[in-house]
Amino acid sequence: MSTSITIKSLSKHYPAMGGSGGGGITKAVDDISLTINAGDLFFLLGPSGCGKTTLLRMIAGFIMPTAGKILFNDRDITHMPANKRNTGMVFQSYALWPHMTVLQNVAFGLSVRKIPKAEREERALEALKAVRMDPYAHRKPNQLSGGQQQRVSLARALVVRPDVLLLDEPLSNLDAKLRLEMRHEIRRLCTETGITTVYVTHDQKEALSMADQIAVLDMGHIAQIGMPRDLYNRPSSRFVADFLGETNFLQAEVTGNSNGSLTLESSAGPLTSTAFDHTNPPNKGGVTCSVRPEALRISSGDDHNSLSGKVLETIYLGEMAQHIVELRGDQRVKIFELHPPVTNRANDDITLSVNPDDVVVLAD
Ligand code: ADP
Ligand code: MG
Repeated sequence: MSTSITIKSLSKHYPAMGGSGGGGITKAVDDISLTINAGDLFFLLGPSGCGKTTLLRMIAGFIMPTAGKILFNDRDITHMPANKRNTGMVFQSYALWPHMTVLQNVAFGLSVRKIPKAEREERALEALKAVRMDPYAHRKPNQLSGGQQQRVSLARALVVRPDVLLLDEPLSNLDAKLRLEMRHEIRRLCTETGITTVYVTHDQKEALSMADQIAVLDMGHIAQIGMPRDLYNRPSSRFVADFLGETNFLQAEVTGNSNGSLTLESSAGPLTSTAFDHTNPPNKGGVTCSVRPEALRISSGDDHNSLSGKVLETIYLGEMAQHIVELRGDQRVKIFELHPPVTNRANDDITLSVNPDDVVVLAD
């Protein structure tokens, strides 16, 4: 019933724009392969220009790939026209018809599909109910808030009972509070309807809080794919570690590997890590480690992964304090202290400790 999406070696290359010659190309999407499980809420996450919209529009059928294949279940739809793919699309701009009521906006896609009038209204109301907008059925779009308009455009995408729902930065035009509310709403809809959904965003919090799976994109390539917690706790590269939140990078030399633990020597002191690729452990030599600010705890100093240093500055934020700490060897790290007992620790000598599972050895 539900639809899986398989993408095989998909590329979209554009001739380079601008006059200076050279005949270069822009690789908007470059040799991407991935599988999206039926019923999943799958995120394409990455900075502006990394190819998210291009990839989504190829799935929708609005952009033809330069190379590669797209399958819905076992069916190759690479060259199928957009209107035959049975997808629903939601854009950042709500794109509602201003002269139609909410109900007419939602029912419109059904009249194009030649569904009889009585059934159109029934299904439109049902879709409005799913997004909790049925009480507003007879209003015009300009009588709605931004969040309500986005709910209507979701209903409009759902009413055709799509096999695949495609969302391109759907919450970017909303204020912070509505964004949070709509995250919850879209997650609920995906779970309740079971429609396979591809969601494009540059907002890592949105992806981490909603996704079943996330593909992080970087310059037309996949940097890493995984579940939110895996990506956050086990980034494989600097790019992913940095993009998915704040982190500290520590350079270190590998000095040993035994019983699933790496011993490392950083300028700030010795460290132990259990967070590395156990199938392909780094050999002796230099590596970069990522340590999240919230993984560094102020400790009494007798833990085995402890580093001593001096607090340079504190920013007090109520629920937490952020400290910049200078460790040995001029290594500076940022730490988050939850529920801080004091507002300022500047100039304090402190010891930090970190769980070996939170010292993530990056592959590149
Ligand atoms: P994102 O949605 O992640 O911000 P896009 O998919 O819109 O990124 O664009 C990816 C890259 O492809 C960008 O460098 C962009 O400038 C380029 N690009 C997108 N569309 C075109 C086009 N029609 N012609 C040429 N270059 C394009
Ligand atoms: Mg885009």
